[in-house]
Amino acid sequence: MIFRTTNPRTTTRPALRRVRTGAALRPLQHRLDPARVEEIPFRAADGVRLGLTRIDSGDRDRPAVLILHGHTVSADMFLLPETRNLVDVLLDDGYEPWLLDWRGSCRLPYNETGRKYTYDDVALYDIPEAVNHIRRRIGDRPLFVVAHCIGALCLSLSMTAGLVPGLAGVVSQGVFLTPRLAGSTSLRMSVAAELLKSRIDHIPVDFRKVGLWSKYTPLFALASRKASCPDPTCQILHNSAWGSGASLFVHEHLSEATHKRLADLFGPAPLWILPHLRRIELARSVVRWHDTDHRYRALPPNALDAAARIDTPVLLLAGSENGLWLDSQELCRDILARRQPQLDVEYIEIPGYGHLDTFLGRGAAVDVFGHILDFLGERR
Ligand SMILES: [Zn+2]
Repeated sequence: MIFRTTNPRTTTRPALRRVRTGAALRPLQHRLDPARVEEIPFRAADGVRLGLTRIDSGDRDRPAVLILHGHTVSADMFLLPETRNLVDVLLDDGYEPWLLDWRGSCRLPYNETGRKYTYDDVALYDIPEAVNHIRRRIGDRPLFVVAHCIGALCLSLSMTAGLVPGLAGVVSQGVFLTPRLAGSTSLRMSVAAELLKSRIDHIPVDFRKVGLWSKYTPLFALASRKASCPDPTCQILHNSAWGSGASLFVHEHLSEATHKRLADLFGPAPLWILPHLRRIELARSVVRWHDTDHRYRALPPNALDAAARIDTPVLLLAGSENGLWLDSQELCRDILARRQPQLDVEYIEIPGYGHLDTFLGRGAAVDVFGHILDFLGERR
């Protein structure tokens, strides 16, 4: 709005950002029978409110699969109503899917306004608590984990800390123990850290919410350079990956419906997480942020150095065109083969796929999920 009536009593104070204080998670978008979707709100060990969702198959003997989303997205990414999604495929193949909304989920009511955290918190509190909760429910049935991006990175820290022992198998998409970012991404990450000093603490993805003229306008303008798609949300994700210069998906792999929903599927990206991400990227390994705080002692200082603690088969997946994490997964396979040859680690590259389209893509059920089912099927 360009013109508006001015209320003299309010002009002296800057507008407050609206804070959502409700306790409930934003409803999941799915086409399952609602009676089959059991939403279980719970708190991590440090008191942070999270969400766990169990999809009931009517069969209590199935192996369970915990699914972890990436940072700023949510469990919605595995339930897309417009495609044959990962949950559909797991249900049809005889598994019981469980979805965790960890503290970086855009479904959580405090997403933008809650207290700051690092990936240490996700690895130490969120993932182990979710696994404990599921185990209390499923007893001695096998439990697998399928994890995407930062969800997988945090899982690698939980695993090498010995906090989630005895999993039946782990599938990691995009990145695991050895994160390597594109050169321009790495450089711009330090530039973005500078934005923190100008009091920008999140990069929004929904142009409709921030408006035409705001402090974020230069970010959207930068993202629109050389973009072939006119949608500003798509530009900031596909063409710029929150201003980092990377790309999050192969554009033509998204259905029109998914493309329209991008602003709902992605939340704003917090800039205050960048120092931890930067440290991880420079180390080419998942490293703990908290060096002196004794509460984080259970986590290894360097997850790659503690990889001998991994006690389960691991499938590393990556699209051949991953524009964010490049060949991190192949690197991980090679390093583990040299340093920990006793581990059961397999790497599969998905030809022509980028990063998020391995789950969001309209053809993912055909091109990607079969590899996940093969891996789980051999170990169930
Ligand atoms: Zn687009």
